[in-house]
Formats: sequence, C-alpha cells, structure tokens
Amino acid sequence: MAVERTLSIIKPDATRRNLTGKINAKFEEAGLRIVAQKRIQLTKAQAGEFYKVHAERPFYDELCDFMASEPVVVQVLEGEGAIAKNREVMGATNPADADEGTIRAEFAESVGENSVHGSDAPETAAAEIAYYFSGLELVG
Ligand code: ADP
Repeated sequence: MAVERTLSIIKPDATRRNLTGKINAKFEEAGLRIVAQKRIQLTKAQAGEFYKVHAERPFYDELCDFMASEPVVVQVLEGEGAIAKNREVMGATNPADADEGTIRAEFAESVGENSVHGSDAPETAAAEIAYYFSGLELVG
C-alpha cells in the first residue's frame, strides 16, 4: 500500500478538554506519524471556507461557529494508507455509531462536536493540507 498524507484536525471540543495528547497517542498506536502540527484559532470565515462543501447543509452555520469557538490543532498524518487508516481510528461521524476504541467513541460529545476531522480522499487530503500548511512546514 502506498504511503499517503492526510489532514487531521483536533476540534475545539477536544482541545478544550485537553485531549490532544490522548488523541495523538491513538494515531501513533495505529502507525500514523504526525509529520506536521500546529495549534491555531480559526475565524468563522476560515472555517466556512474549509467546510464550504457543506454550505447547503442545515448544520453548516453551527459547524462554522463551533470550529471558530476555540483553538484547533491541525496536523498532517503520514503512513501506509493513511487516509483510510485515519478514518478508521476516528470512527463514525456520530459517536453513537462509532466502533469501540475509536476516537469518536471514546471522546466525541455529539455528531457535531465530534473531536476530530480527517480527509476522506487523496484529492481532498492534498487540498486540505495545502489550506493549512506550506511546503516548508512539511518535514517527512
Ligand atoms: P466526517 O467529519 O465524519 O467526514 P461529514 O463530512 O459528513 O463527516 O461532516 C463534517 C462535519 O460536520 C462532521 O464531522 C460534524 O462535525 C458536522 N456534522 C455532520 N453531520 C452533522 C449533523 N447532523 N449535525 C451537526 N453537525 C454535523
């Protein structure tokens, strides 16, 4: 399987509860390497641009407010099949449906405040990484 990179975000519900280290341990235990990471405060407009694919969904405004409510940790995870592997470790969007041991099963508070974001395909991973990181910040 090819080595991939994917964009991960530790969302405000998790940074607020000081869960960054516990979530990072889950990634590392799954064989994902954190090759870039920074803590940032998004504006609502920046969150809206990032999630623009959901602009027509009823939860869009609430999602943008949430993502701008407190700092997030944005990161690039690298590994074999990293995109699918990260989605596996994250668990289903709604924590009620997430498999035992996944990040969302253990930490998410609701379908909206669900602790992590992860890219869903190679094209979105490339675009999402470029949204937050410059080439100089990516050290493999
Ligand atoms: P995922 O993050 O698992 O890829 P989606 O791309 O469907 O899920 O949704 C993006 C984000 O929008 C979710 O992680 C969650 O924060 C929020 N969201 C999705 N569905 C809902 C919903 N029904 N109500 C509130 N927020 C939602």
